[in-house]
Amino acid sequence: MDEDLDIIVIGGGAGGGTLAALCAAAGKRVLLAERGEAITAPDSVDRAGASRLHDEASTLIQKQPYDDRTIQVNGTSSRLYMGGILGGGTSVYGGALLRPSPADFSPGKYYGTRIPREIHEWPVSFEAFEPYLKAAERLYRVVTDPSTDNGLPLAEINEKLMKSAWKSGLNPYRLPLAIDSSKCLRCDNCAGFVCPTGARSSSSQLLQQSSARGDSLTLKTHCEADRLDRGANGRLNGVWLRSRKDSSRRLYRAKRYVLSAGAIGSSALLIKSGFDHPLIGRNYMKHYSPIAIGVFARSTGASQTFVKQVGYSDYYFGTKDLPEKMGIVQSLPAPGPLMMSKSGMKLVPRWMLNILRSRMLPLVGIVEDLPDPENRVSLDDSGSIRLRHQFSDYDHERGAEMTRHMSRLLKKTGAFHCVTGLAPSQEHVAHQCGTIRFGTSEHHAVADPECRLFGQPDLFVADGSFMPNSSGVGPSLTIIANAIRVAEIVVSEV
Ligand SMILES: Cc1cc2nc3c(=O)[nH]c(=O)nc-3n(C[C@H](O)[C@H](O)[C@H](O)COP(=O)(O)OP(=O)(O)OC[C@H]3O[C@@H](n4cnc5c(N)ncnc54)[C@H](O)[C@@H]3O)c2cc1C
Ligand code: SF4
Repeated sequence: MDEDLDIIVIGGGAGGGTLAALCAAAGKRVLLAERGEAITAPDSVDRAGASRLHDEASTLIQKQPYDDRTIQVNGTSSRLYMGGILGGGTSVYGGALLRPSPADFSPGKYYGTRIPREIHEWPVSFEAFEPYLKAAERLYRVVTDPSTDNGLPLAEINEKLMKSAWKSGLNPYRLPLAIDSSKCLRCDNCAGFVCPTGARSSSSQLLQQSSARGDSLTLKTHCEADRLDRGANGRLNGVWLRSRKDSSRRLYRAKRYVLSAGAIGSSALLIKSGFDHPLIGRNYMKHYSPIAIGVFARSTGASQTFVKQVGYSDYYFGTKDLPEKMGIVQSLPAPGPLMMSKSGMKLVPRWMLNILRSRMLPLVGIVEDLPDPENRVSLDDSGSIRLRHQFSDYDHERGAEMTRHMSRLLKKTGAFHCVTGLAPSQEHVAHQCGTIRFGTSEHHAVADPECRLFGQPDLFVADGSFMPNSSGVGPSLTIIANAIRVAEIVVSEV
């Protein structure tokens, strides 16, 4: 059938897109199946120069670049904010690519009996993983020192924020961004939107570069992996791919298969394909992300320019009052009027929302949520994806503490009011991870330390599913680094 294929990759996001491009660059014959369409930077701009996917209505309300499946979350059906085009999350993310702390690889030291002993340590040490983090930064052209000419100029409100943070004894820094400042328009709406110029690095760019180089890469977009076909000997017979254009379906075979449909999509596909490891789909995490919005008397510039620039890690291991491991704080873009209406401000007139938007600066905490087997991906009787998710009291407690501190800093920066008690809705699953975790034994993990599924020698996982805990930073750099690591293993075997 397809004996000439070395590797089939399912899903072209942070993990899958990176891995496929690297394997193809290494001379392997790769097929990448992506259920969404390919929207490249120039394609997203129409003839009049307007960006098709850079307005709030088409992007965040109609959710055009997001996954088009209806998914039940705690019994309510909705479409989720998870990347649904080539590039996956990296086509819409904020590009803040932070390294995890070495402590994230030893969660047992901080959470003790709150998490099972078997996941107290990652099966790969931070020291062994670190070179891949550096490689990921190079591949995605992360500006690790934004104070140089390569960085985006710091918005005035962020200068103020940094000054007041220093005065408060904090150690703020400029976020490492995978954004090429020479191409960047400094839009007010960046995270959540397709980048109109290609300034923000994505896995879709890596795939396009690979194709342009003439690597042996077959890119199949609008193409969904329907089912993995398992043979009697435990190896895979192949993967059924279905064209979403004409519904045609065909079995494709290769020497190795890499699952990277996202933590929700990959675990759902394994369940649908009859894999029965009891941990598949369980321990779904997404970070607890409390938001504090400072409202200022004067314009902050947030409705005109790019403000997601500052972060601090002073509460990574908790506060004086609550010395529990948490994560970073970072600034966020101001939500647009339609999203403000959607999140409870329906009765406020549009003009007032626009004024409010121009005077705000949001901060978000990335609080590590702990794995809970009851938080899980499953399928209903019709085969549709179902999610069950609740944060624990411990997550809420640390989130509330983080909020108090964010609010205090915003007031010190000049905000006359701070809106708190906000958290992204269940539709927001940006940092999904954990549903096919790796570990040293099949008794407590689905994949081995190489991210190969136990008992399945030709099947790997290379998306956010592999993470046993969610860490205290956005997951993209960790996922990309792991994909580079897994790519090395796969390439050495075919
Ligand atoms: C708005 C937004 C902002 C974000 N900002 C940041 C940030 O600043 N920093 C950070 O670190 N992280 C950020 N993230 C998170 C980051 O994008 C994700 O963590 C990352 O992309 C996850 O990578 P992944 O490989 O696990 O899955 P994804 O990147 O989601 O890729 C999965 C891909 O698989 C495809 N797929 C699904 N099912 C199938 C199937 N059956 N067959 C074929 N294809 C399939 C999907 O269409 C998708 O393209 C953000 C995410 C969002 C949505
Ligand atoms: S701010 Fe820059 S990186 Fe972000 S969408 Fe606009 S051009 Fe792209």
